[in-house]
Amino acid sequence: MRLSGVLTDMPVAAGTPVSESFCGDCEECVRRCPSQAIRGKAWSLHMDRDDLLDAAVCKKTIIERGEMIGITVEACGVCISVCPWTKRYISRIGAN
Ligand code: SF4
Ligand code: SF4
Repeated sequence: MRLSGVLTDMPVAAGTPVSESFCGDCEECVRRCPSQAIRGKAWSLHMDRDDLLDAAVCKKTIIERGEMIGITVEACGVCISVCPWTKRYISRIGAN
């Protein structure tokens, strides 16, 4: 998950909070992460981030990948792109 902020006075409806992992048996992000930063544990509420991900290794990897293509911003997101939930969303909004 990546978080961003949007400032608006538009009325928006809140969705249902996610309180359990939807990953099931999937390990696609674990398998495809170029730095093996994802530990492969199922997420649950109040879990420590460090139990899910080695954030320092992830950060180092995205900086190195950015440098490889000549940009200074984060450049990875493999875990997001290979996730079947991402693919399902992209297919639903027709952005594929
Ligand atoms: S952004 Fe890249 S390095 Fe970080 S966890 Fe995802 S796949 Fe791994
Ligand atoms: S790729 Fe998506 S569904 Fe699969 S384990 Fe990673 S976060 Fe869960």
